[in-house]
Amino acid sequence: MISQQMLQYQSLDSELNRIEKDLRKNENYIKRKQLKAVSQEYEETLNKLDSKSLDLRNQLAVARQTIDKITSVIDEHSKEIEDIESVDELNYMNKKLNEQLEQLASAEKDIKRILREGEEISRQFDDIYSKLPRLASLISKCSDEINKAAAEVKPRVRELQQKQAELKKEIDPALFGVYSKIAEGGLSPVFVPLRDGSRCGGCQMEMPKAVVDSQMASKGYVRCEHCGRIIYKQE
Ligand SMILES: [Zn+2]
Repeated sequence: MISQQMLQYQSLDSELNRIEKDLRKNENYIKRKQLKAVSQEYEETLNKLDSKSLDLRNQLAVARQTIDKITSVIDEHSKEIEDIESVDELNYMNKKLNEQLEQLASAEKDIKRILREGEEISRQFDDIYSKLPRLASLISKCSDEINKAAAEVKPRVRELQQKQAELKKEIDPALFGVYSKIAEGGLSPVFVPLRDGSRCGGCQMEMPKAVVDSQMASKGYVRCEHCGRIIYKQE
C-alpha cells in the first residue's frame, strides 16, 4: 500500500520540479549561460595570449643575446683590421665581417618579427579587455533577473516544502527511502497506478499478472521491471 501522504508528497515534488524547470527555461537563465560560455572563451584566449607573450619575451631575450654576441665579434674584427698588413688578409677579414653583418641583419629581422607578433598579441589583449566590462555587466543583469524570478516563486516553494515536511512525518521511512532513491535517479513520477490489472501506469508496459498479484499481496506495490517505477493499486 502506498499511503495518500506519500502520493501527496510526490505530487508536491512534481510541482517543485516544475517550478525549478520553469526557472531554468527563463530567458535570462539561458542568456547567462551563453554569456558565461563567452566569458570562459575569453579567459582561455587570454591564457593562450599570456603564454604566447611569455614565449615571445624569451625569443626576444635570445635574439638580443645573439645581437650582443655578433656586435662583440664585429668589434674584435674591426680592431684586427687595424693591424692588417696584406690585401689578402684584408679581404679575408672583410669576408668575415660581412658574414657577421649578415647574421646581424637576420637577427634584426627576427626582432622585428617578434615585435610585430607582440603588437598583435597586445591588440588582441586590448580587444578582449575592452569587451570584459560590458560582458560582466550583462551577466550581472541576467543574475539580477534570475534572482528576481527565484524570489517570486520562493513563497510558493517554501509553502510546498513545509507541506512536504509535515507529510514526511507520516510516511513510512522505508518507503520514503525507496522513493528518494528512485527520484534521485531522475524518474518522475516514481509512483504510478496499475493499469488494466497488469500494466505499468508510467511506461505502459505489461508485467506478468501472477508477479503483479503476488507482489501486490505481499508488499502492497510492484516495482516495474521495465522502467523501475513503483506501481500501486488505485483505491
Ligand atoms: Zn514501467
